[in-house]
This record gives sequence, C-alpha cells and structure tokens, in this order.
Amino acid sequence: MFAIKRELKLNNVETSLMRGNAGFKRWVYNFGLDLLTASWSFEDVLASDSKRLNAIKKVFTQITMQKPEHAWMKLYPSTVYQSAFIDLKDAFSRWRKGVSEFPKKKSKKKGDSFTIYKTAGIYPVKGEPATPFTNRVVINEGKQIKLPGLKTFRLKERINFICSSQTFTVSRTADKWFVSFTLDAEKLPPIIHPIEKIGVDLGVKVLGTCSDGSKYDMPASTTRAKTKLSKLQWRNRQKILGNKKLKIRASKNALKFYRKTQRQNARIANIRQDTTQKMTTDLSRKSCIIRIEDLNILGMIGLHKLARAVSNNCFYEIRRQLTYKQAHYGTTVELVDRWYPSSKTCSKCNHIQDMKLSDRIFNCQKCKHIQDRDENAATNLENAPNSKVRLA
Ligand SMILES: [Zn+2]
Repeated sequence: MFAIKRELKLNNVETSLMRGNAGFKRWVYNFGLDLLTASWSFEDVLASDSKRLNAIKKVFTQITMQKPEHAWMKLYPSTVYQSAFIDLKDAFSRWRKGVSEFPKKKSKKKGDSFTIYKTAGIYPVKGEPATPFTNRVVINEGKQIKLPGLKTFRLKERINFICSSQTFTVSRTADKWFVSFTLDAEKLPPIIHPIEKIGVDLGVKVLGTCSDGSKYDMPASTTRAKTKLSKLQWRNRQKILGNKKLKIRASKNALKFYRKTQRQNARIANIRQDTTQKMTTDLSRKSCIIRIEDLNILGMIGLHKLARAVSNNCFYEIRRQLTYKQAHYGTTVELVDRWYPSSKTCSKCNHIQDMKLSDRIFNCQKCKHIQDRDENAATNLENAPNSKVRLA
C-alpha cells in the first residue's frame, strides 16, 4: 500500500465548500468529544468508549441533525460525520494505549481537514456479487479527481496512472489545500538489501545514529526557519487576534501576521516531513531488519522538556513511517524493549555503567573501550538479545 498526496487547485466557491466540509467535521468531532467526556459523570453506566460513541452517533443522526437549525448539515456528504466519529474513536484508543495525549477539541486555527469515502450505497445491485470496485473510486490519469459525495476538482500536479481508492482526506495547511489517498498496489519491485540488520538510535540532536556509522541530521534550514518564526513572533508579540468576549475584532495587520506565522509553521513541518521521509526510505532500502528503541511516549510526554524534543524529532513519526514502509521494501521493523540499557552498556564487553544525559562519549570502565554515545547505543540495539525484541 502506498499513499498519494496532491495539491488541489481550487476557486473561491470550491474553497468555501472545502471549508464548510471541514467545519462540519470539526463540529461533529467536538460534539462527540463533549458528550463522551460528559457521559463519564454518569457513574452507573458501564460501557466502553466505542459503545458510548455509537450511542452518541445515534443521538447525532436521529436528534441533532433533524433540528431545523441544523439543516445545513444535510448539504454535506454523510461520510464526513461518519469519519469524524471514526477519528474520535481512534483518538480515544490512542490515548488509552498511552501513545497520545488526551484528545483535544479541534480548532480552526489548527488547520482544516476532513475525510470522505465511497460507500457501497445502492451497490451491489441485489442478486449481483460485489466487485472489487463496488466501493472504490477509479482515478483516471490526468489533472482531475472526483471525490465521493462531492464533485470533480482540479489538481496542480497530474496523476500518471489509473488507480483506485476508497478513502480520501482533504486537508488545508496554511492557505493550500491537499487531497491524499492510499492505493492498494505495490509500487516497487522487491529489493535486495545490502545490510542484514541495522540498529538506529533516535536522538534529539542527531535525528538518527546507525550502527553502521551513518548519521541523519536535521537540516540547518529548520533552525533557520525556526529563527525566522521566533523573530516574527517576537516582533508582533503585542498583536492580538481579537477577543470574542470583549468584542474586539482582529485587525487587518493581526490577520496578516497570523497568516504569515501559519505559512512559516507549514514550512518547518514540510522540511521535517521531507527529512524523516528521506531517512526512513533510505533505511528501508539499506537494511532488511531495522531495530529501533520502543520508546515510552506517554512517559516522555510527562517530562515537559523532553516532550518538546520528542515532538520536534518526531520519534513516533519515524516509527510510523518505517512500519508502513515494510510492505514496500520487504523490511522488518523491530522494537527493542525500552528497559534494555542500550546507552549504558558497552558494545564491546557488555559491561553496564551509569551514563548521565550530558555524557556524549561512552568510556568503558572495564575494557577502556571509547565510542560516541549514540553509536554505542545503536550497536547495542543491533545486537540486542531476541528476548528483548518485539515486532513493530
Ligand atoms: Zn567495555
């Protein structure tokens, strides 16, 4: 499976249609989030999040949506609210598992997005068997795309082959709109990997240090872009974007500044995404087995300072990318137990000693082996005993 993301070329009418869809999704998501958290105060009701959400969905479709003041909701495809509930369910299960923080309300400021998909609808025709295309949209070559439940839109860059997909996500970053969808096709022929096994130590300063000696750095352009952003924010530190309670309207200049920051943030995110994509593709081409540390993401969220570093360095994102690239590249991603002392162990003699976070060099007290801290950790990850390793 692989994903395609293309920028949409929208006119004003189409842009407001997309905004409307995203607003509808946001409304439903926040509605579900509010009701679900409120339902926890009824102590006599024992039900899982997912059961509660199903009940909330019924309330939404049978009561809320039928109110005359909510007639506008019927202008949008039903899959928009369906997928809002799916997203909410995912957000809660990620939170329960400890991979994410508690789901937050969606806000317009965070960008817009919504998901639509083709439903089986009136197909398959009674008595006729369902075909693989029953609930798929065929996407033709060219610069146009038909979105299920909506109309046909123009693309900035063409799609070079005929393909099909079921689910489409439309999103806005700064002032650009994108559509993304996944294809169930193998893009690449099987690959012969030059290395059998590699250990990668994911870090804060260096993005990844590998047991074969190679390193992946965050490009200097992120630092530059971040400096530019903080300068922009400092110079405009007095600007406020209005206040609804005090009935202050946002000034034109404040809006301009707000758009500028959004674009700058998008640029930083793009560089980061580009870097991690290149790194994970490179690793997946290089080695058959990739071993990374199984980080305790929840534990790290607790530590405030590290949390920022973690989100900056997108540990979770790298792990996600490596995992989904397994299918293309025929790799196996293995997670090394987070209690395995990869940075405290000597990669030569297995002697374990205490290491401070500030110690950059591993200096073995027993066999006098000297190695860069991260390289030593990467080697240990590669050689970790199988009992400490699980599949991603
Ligand atoms: Zn040693």
